[in-house]
Amino acid sequence: MSELLDSFETEFFKFYTDNTLEETNLQKCLDHTHEFKNHLKKLKAHLNKHIQESKPEVYNNLNDKEKQKFKRKRELIIEKLNKSQKQWDHSVKKQIKHVSQQSNRFNKTSLNKLKEFDIDSVYVNKLPKETMENVDEAIGYHILRYSIDSMPLENKDEAFKYLKDVYGITNKESTEFIDMGQIVHDLKKGNTDSCLTWCSNEISSLSSNHVALSSLKFELYTLSAMQSVMRGNPVEVYHQMTQQAPLDCFKHREKELIRNVVPFLTKSLIGQPIHDIDSKMNEELKKCISLFVKEYCAAKHIFFNSPLFLIVLSGLISFQFFIKYKTIRELAHVDWTTKDELPFDVKLPDFLTHFHPIFICPVLKEETTTENPPYSLACHHVISKKALDRLSKNGTITFKCPYCPMNTSMSSTKKVRFVML
Ligand SMILES: [Zn+2]
Repeated sequence: MSELLDSFETEFFKFYTDNTLEETNLQKCLDHTHEFKNHLKKLKAHLNKHIQESKPEVYNNLNDKEKQKFKRKRELIIEKLNKSQKQWDHSVKKQIKHVSQQSNRFNKTSLNKLKEFDIDSVYVNKLPKETMENVDEAIGYHILRYSIDSMPLENKDEAFKYLKDVYGITNKESTEFIDMGQIVHDLKKGNTDSCLTWCSNEISSLSSNHVALSSLKFELYTLSAMQSVMRGNPVEVYHQMTQQAPLDCFKHREKELIRNVVPFLTKSLIGQPIHDIDSKMNEELKKCISLFVKEYCAAKHIFFNSPLFLIVLSGLISFQFFIKYKTIRELAHVDWTTKDELPFDVKLPDFLTHFHPIFICPVLKEETTTENPPYSLACHHVISKKALDRLSKNGTITFKCPYCPMNTSMSSTKKVRFVML
């Protein structure tokens, strides 16, 4: 893939005459044409002068040698005109040929590579048309979660209406996301007050995560101290850190204070410039926003990641497995065999699989389902119902566990449900 990107870039750069991607190859055609036009103008001026000189009252006064020179001058102008036209024609044609060759080469070497994979061929098990409403809702949720602070939302009611009109979102969650977006928006504008107020209100609730909220508060005060440093007011910074910020924020944070805040304070107090304060402040802002969003979503019991995002991510990861399967299938001439599950395993990263526990029956090597649930035996080994029925031959009093020497009976088996805590 990276090789493809490299060759893609190399070929793409050839459309330009320089590395800054400002001047395309066609610029040369323009230059040549401009040059030709200037030549024509010059020749026109020469000719005009020549016509003036060819008036009988001027011409007739010339001697033979001068007349000869006059004639030669006219021939020269015509020669120059021809030459200029030929030159222009030649260079423009040459340049256009070069451009079209380059464009063809780009198509051949690069664009065709992109056509090697027909993405539509992957689309089997089509999404039913009647579920499009749910898809729209998922898109709305995604927009709410990730892009709310970049929308034109002046006041809350207007925002609500806007989201309803444009994205069809009527869910109560939109209110919560609008509030969240407003606070993120404030933070980005350099205003930490609304976020601090939210933190304080949240801390008074019993179920809240006090450790995380106090971390967030600490970061918010650090951010606003940096803003004061930026405004060049060390007294304000000192006042803010000592008077306004509540003590509980700084408890057990001596190391962070010494590392993050003290150098700024000291430099600011003795009037030394802080060079990378812009990037440090951006970093701090990002930290505050991500901490806040995480705590906000947890407090309001709304998703931190949009479901759509996780689904698309899983889909992207699955492509490679699908393509591999397809290639093997074409070589082996086997058909798509299963209806209930994909005929190949997709390995997803842990954070995309820690939702539902999957149990494979150790006897039958099949995944347990609602129709074929897992059962525990008296010895605490777990097998699927289908395997159990076969072993017990539909209810024989005792039978042996396939994994240990213990005997077990139907009456001592229990249905199992796995829960990820
Ligand atoms: Zn056992």
